[in-house]
Amino acid sequence: MSHERGEFRLIECVRERARAHPSVSIGIGDDAALVRASSAAGLLVTTDMLMDGVDFVVGSTPAELIGRKCLAVNLSDIAAMAGRPVAAVISLALPRHHGRVLAEQLYRGICALADEFEVGLAGGDTNTWDGPLVASITVLGEPPDGGPVLRNGARPGDWLLVTGPLGGSLGGRHLTFEPRLRAAARLQSLVNLHAMLDLSDGLASDVRHLAHESNVGVVIDASAVPIHADVDPTLRPEERLAHALGDGEDFELLLAVSPDDGARLLSETCDDIKVFHVGECVAGRDCLLRDADGTLRPLPQAGWEHGMD
Ligand code: ADP
Ligand code: MG
Repeated sequence: MSHERGEFRLIECVRERARAHPSVSIGIGDDAALVRASSAAGLLVTTDMLMDGVDFVVGSTPAELIGRKCLAVNLSDIAAMAGRPVAAVISLALPRHHGRVLAEQLYRGICALADEFEVGLAGGDTNTWDGPLVASITVLGEPPDGGPVLRNGARPGDWLLVTGPLGGSLGGRHLTFEPRLRAAARLQSLVNLHAMLDLSDGLASDVRHLAHESNVGVVIDASAVPIHADVDPTLRPEERLAHALGDGEDFELLLAVSPDDGARLLSETCDDIKVFHVGECVAGRDCLLRDADGTLRPLPQAGWEHGMD
């Protein structure tokens, strides 16, 4: 694009701030970037577009945290494949009014998280318009040795585990969550991960993706679902459970492993990794919730879905 002077200065700032990365041999400043794939297996690619008014609210959320979230949701997708992020490409549609200041603040959050996980900024695109902020980030990553962990490998009898308590994220955690890259790498080194995904829409909704792709049913134990301290403690237990199952934006990992591996992860031999056993995979296609007294009922169709006509 032909850019205004402000955009040019912004790109120069980002270019200076971008950390040199061994896998990004040509970065910001040329017509395209060159990213080295260290293995013949290729690179993982994931992208997420976040919009003012849907995923955050500019003006009532610190822009640094908005930038951080835009990158973090992508890193969470790489974690869900047990991969290692390498480089990010960042496209911004900036509102004309105060766009430059907004972009600088966004980049403060983006760069801090990129540095923490050694992600190189390989390029992007910067546009200004009369609409609200839209930020689209694409992250490239390396798959683990042995290949990425997919959604489709769960088997009947597998245990379902999550990496942290769920619910109440929209109170603020959706902006500050830690992408579970370290946990994913550790889990992958310890056990055979049959299937994995990151919880963006809520356990009740996302576990269906794993069930569908793996051709299994699932039973979630109501009393075993870890409820985050962010969920209002004064609510009734069923309401607290509904928040844990349906609020979404937890960005914890959901994994399916053999019962032996599951028991190992819960035992003292793996005391550096915290996981919660929330249910099992079963034969068939039903997604069920088991109450404390053993009664089975359909897993509520809770969770966030983007409305579309
Ligand atoms: P072109 O005209 O080829 O689209 P641009 O002027 O948009 O080029 O971009 C110039 C360089 O700056 C490219 O290397 C591009 O990847 C990089 N760039 C543009 N916007 C951003 C951004 N928001 N973040 C990171 N790099 C950017
Ligand atoms: Mg461009």
